[in-house]
Amino acid sequence: MRRRSLLALVMGELLVGPPPAHALPVEEHSIGNPADGLRLAIRDSGRPGPLYFVPHDNENIAVRAVERLWRTERPVGVLVEVRQIGNRYIYQRFAGRRFYADPNRLYDGRAVVKAQIEALPPVWACGTVLNQRLGDGELADAAARFERIGKQILRELSHWLRRGYGPLVAVHNNTEGEFAVDNAEGTAGRIHRAAGVDTDDFFLVTHGHDFEALGRLGYNVALQPPHPTADGSLSVWAARHRLRYINVEAQHRDCLDYTRSEGHLDYQFQMLRALYSLR
Ligand SMILES: [Zn+2]
Repeated sequence: MRRRSLLALVMGELLVGPPPAHALPVEEHSIGNPADGLRLAIRDSGRPGPLYFVPHDNENIAVRAVERLWRTERPVGVLVEVRQIGNRYIYQRFAGRRFYADPNRLYDGRAVVKAQIEALPPVWACGTVLNQRLGDGELADAAARFERIGKQILRELSHWLRRGYGPLVAVHNNTEGEFAVDNAEGTAGRIHRAAGVDTDDFFLVTHGHDFEALGRLGYNVALQPPHPTADGSLSVWAARHRLRYINVEAQHRDCLDYTRSEGHLDYQFQMLRALYSLR
């Protein structure tokens, strides 16, 4: 009887295979002020592999590319997403107002976080008007809160890295011409331009061997210098800790919801799959 159950289990696994990505349970960890609904959504394949991180809640093509990869290939690694209101920016409410920050500018000391919040222009971003007229006290308060959120995110990522997951793979979408392999040159040590590939679709890496390998595979790649300017971004944090970090950037259309967003999904999926071939 026992042997039969075991056999049924093995046969079931062979016939059905591992659960598809959309069937993986999503675990949510609240970060920041609980009332603001900011959280990390985590899907673990159960097998150590890339630590996929999507910090921007509007970059849905990035999430879909990982989901498609996990439907197509054997799912490995873990997907960690920042979620709140579907915007690029996250907010915390205090003193009756919402204060915004870029969740990819929180990974350094308070002075850097403060400077990044201050540098956010009071512009319309997908229906949201960002920080208008911040007083000195408000700015200091916002910096303290967002610095703490940055630490909470790093604690989650470090947890997976300690468990043997990695490399750290940030998955992003950009808008036409905004952030491309060409203009990453200011922050990048070396650039490889692939013929016939949209410059908005590119890798930004911290390790020279990934730069060489992805270039040889025919992709746009930028290699970050070992001591980049401290801007609070995750790539700079990774460089400082000598971590292997790969940013996968592909173009999308901004400000659209999950179902209507258009973009270079096929290409980003292909880019993610190419990482499987790296050693
Ligand atoms: Zn992004």
